[in-house]
Amino acid sequence: MDLGGDFLVIGSGIAGLRAALSLAETGDVVILTKADPRESSTGYAQGGIAAAIGPDDSPELHARDTIAAGDGLCVPEAVDVLVREGPRYVRELIEWGAAFDRDAAGAPALGREAAHSVRRVLHARDATGREIARVLGSRVGGSPRIRVVDDAAATELVVDGGACTGARFVTTAGERGTVTAHATLLATGGAGQVFRETTNPAVATGDGIAMAVGAGARVADLEFVQFHPTVLSVEGAPRFLLSEALRGEGARLVNEAGEPFMTRYEPAGDLASRDLVARAIVREAERTAAPVYLTMAHLDAGFVRRRFPTIAQTCAQAGLDLAHDRIPVSPAAHYLMGGVETDLDARTSIQRLFAAGEVACTGVHGANRLASNSLLEGLVFGARAAAAMAAPPRPAALRAADVFETPLPTAGAGPVPDTYAVRDLMWRSVGLLRAVRPLEAAVARLDAWLGAVVAAQARGHCDEPLRRTATLVTVGWLVARAAFRREESRGAHFRTDFPSRDDLHWNKHISDRLLA
Ligand SMILES: Cc1cc2nc3c(=O)[nH]c(=O)nc-3n(C[C@H](O)[C@H](O)[C@H](O)COP(=O)(O)OP(=O)(O)OC[C@H]3O[C@@H](n4cnc5c(N)ncnc54)[C@H](O)[C@@H]3O)c2cc1C
Repeated sequence: MDLGGDFLVIGSGIAGLRAALSLAETGDVVILTKADPRESSTGYAQGGIAAAIGPDDSPELHARDTIAAGDGLCVPEAVDVLVREGPRYVRELIEWGAAFDRDAAGAPALGREAAHSVRRVLHARDATGREIARVLGSRVGGSPRIRVVDDAAATELVVDGGACTGARFVTTAGERGTVTAHATLLATGGAGQVFRETTNPAVATGDGIAMAVGAGARVADLEFVQFHPTVLSVEGAPRFLLSEALRGEGARLVNEAGEPFMTRYEPAGDLASRDLVARAIVREAERTAAPVYLTMAHLDAGFVRRRFPTIAQTCAQAGLDLAHDRIPVSPAAHYLMGGVETDLDARTSIQRLFAAGEVACTGVHGANRLASNSLLEGLVFGARAAAAMAAPPRPAALRAADVFETPLPTAGAGPVPDTYAVRDLMWRSVGLLRAVRPLEAAVARLDAWLGAVVAAQARGHCDEPLRRTATLVTVGWLVARAAFRREESRGAHFRTDFPSRDDLHWNKHISDRLLA
């Protein structure tokens, strides 16, 4: 099945849908999406979307909080774009019908989340992403110029004379095809599935990163993986996210003895930034040799159930009452700050190839993302990508970075791993607490696995399970190498052997480019 359009968008989360709506004003758009179009991290986002619209807020204040969370590595120009353009695009969502919760005066009710200095998070109960996806999805569905091809996974970018001319894809029924387009947008989301424990849906396997490096594009800052501190930790139940908004509304972390413990580790207590809370939970669980819990028992039960209906329902399915019971929690991989390197208009290092949303690395999040900034990033940079895709092509203005140019490992003799082995290795050795020996061993193992995958592909194997393994191994290999390389601790990247931030040597972005 060969398709053509002016524009190709790969992915149907917030970034892809928002971009497609603008692109349809100037041309025909094909959206490839590898599962049901509603299946995306966007659809699972709970807490909300940040925007400086409150009376006590300003873009400057939002920028200050974003840059503080980013721990020295935010790209200030990208942050500036995010916080200044964010309110406009959020108001546009409201005009399009997004039903965010309202306060008594009828204005959007603004939630407080960790490391935000004021209330700035718009939300639709605890299912904000679903509401945003509903609004964008219905507009996309109503556009005669957008064709959504679902159950169709892009497998490879087509590059001709240094410029991207589209992508090859395979449907779940096994049909193969190519979309040819004047400009292509990667909007494939994150890569949480590279880790055994993750909040991300099954589609978040880092395909955009693997396809981009396969085509010779630059990727950057991949060592920065955000681990969410609180996912439901009940044997047999899915690792369901327990949003930070719970602590924003007063939930407390307690140990087995029922003692609040966060202030023992961090002065900001339960509202410290995600990485600090995640590490404190691991340490408290180790210290007490027992689980750690989230409790809302001291809050009004009616309020808790009204404000967090989805979370309350999921806890109930696991036999727990969110309003009364202690909920066992542990950290899980949640968000990738790094990704395909882009400039402020979503251009990548390959002509006519663009990236927006979680797959991209604009530098907006630096070494650690401020909660609720990623939906905003998808919205703002999705719209900016569309404007640049419709404009005459010009080279990306990528920021200065150390660029490592590495040949892909050559074919090896070992067995191709199963995906659990890859995800388990990444969780144990490249997870929340990192150190030289486990990292070194992980890189060596991933090197060998990548060699095995290359050999299998050279023998002509190209089925879906092998493609999924190849993607997870490639992305895991890049993340592990980046984590091994950065000998300091900064933001979400924590090295037990280099526990301090080292601005003298490491206050820089690092990019990788694979040589064919
Ligand atoms: C549980 C959870 C809660 C969250 N809560 C919040 C929150 O409250 N606030 C916030 O700001 N952020 C939150 N985040 C993060 C945020 O949801 C994501 O970063 C954001 O939605 C990413 O949007 P995106 O458009 O880049 O990608 P996604 O929404 O993940 O969409 C990616 C799309 O690409 C498709 N795709 C992937 N690979 C391929 C391929 N090879 N071919 C074709 N299609 C492909 C997928 O099927 C999907 O449609 C949360 C994330 C999770 C997992």
